[in-house]
Amino acid sequence: MGILSGKRAFIVGVATDRSIAWGIAQAMKAQGAELAFSYQGEKLKDRVTPLAESVGSRIVLPLDVSSDAEIDAAFAALSREWDSLDILVHAVAFAPREAIEGSFTANTSREAFRIAHDVSSYSLTALARAAQPLMAGRAGAVLTLSYLGAVRSIPSYNVMGLAKASLEANVRFLAADLGPQNIRVNAISAGPVKTLAAAGISGFRKMLAQVAQVAPLRRNVSTEDVGNAAAFLCSDMAAGITGEIVYVDNGFSTVGMSFGAAAADGG
Ligand code: NAP
Repeated sequence: MGILSGKRAFIVGVATDRSIAWGIAQAMKAQGAELAFSYQGEKLKDRVTPLAESVGSRIVLPLDVSSDAEIDAAFAALSREWDSLDILVHAVAFAPREAIEGSFTANTSREAFRIAHDVSSYSLTALARAAQPLMAGRAGAVLTLSYLGAVRSIPSYNVMGLAKASLEANVRFLAADLGPQNIRVNAISAGPVKTLAAAGISGFRKMLAQVAQVAPLRRNVSTEDVGNAAAFLCSDMAAGITGEIVYVDNGFSTVGMSFGAAAADGG
């Protein structure tokens, strides 16, 4: 029996089989959870549906998180299939491409700021509110994905760093608000993973190389690493953990200084 057996999880943010949300879905399935998925736009429907079927899920719902109407419709459809929900995974972020390259000062327009915060942070509040009725009487768990750019400047991450800082505050406020209803809210701050969204960040390959050289474990994280931590955080084994940002980054964020590979040969 897995640590999530008997639990139902709604996973928002699968785009491809490289998505972090897909790593989370696989880990949750392996731990016994029943899964439902969403997709954004018809193009992704054809990609997400076979992935969902491969883990035994036939619930695949359209959901653009920037639309209140789509959020309402998705949860109405979910509640026709399920009478309760235990886990909500929010693995969604977006910023206009021109805002996640070059100069932060020059390229952060009012509109890019608005879109990044709306899609990447506000959507967590909106989805948690929509999930609340289905989580009533359960040990609910909400999980989102953040990145180190929330608390440190990272080249090119720019306005997305501000949106992630907002997202992390969102986690703490939701945790305080929903805790009395036995709903826990946490984030995983993942190390860089090569996904569709990451491909939009200028210089992403250099970020991967830097982590592999400097992180204590000398490698990048996999979607499996993140998925396993997500399964734990959404299980009853993590019943005492809420409002936390848990780093799954091979220790990269803990290093103050490193001479990387050169340290090993005394260089
Ligand atoms: P991904 O596979 O591209 O997933 C991002 C998902 O967000 C896609 O399914 C995308 O759909 C969806 N999305 C964007 N705008 C949306 C909207 N308005 N409504 C609904 N869905 C929308 O990339 P990922 O790297 O796995 O990203 C998942 C989460 O992990 C994000 O929050 C990201 O910031 C976070 N994260 C990623 C890394 C990394 O290095 N990859 C590190 C730390 C944290 P479309 O493809 O249709 O836009």
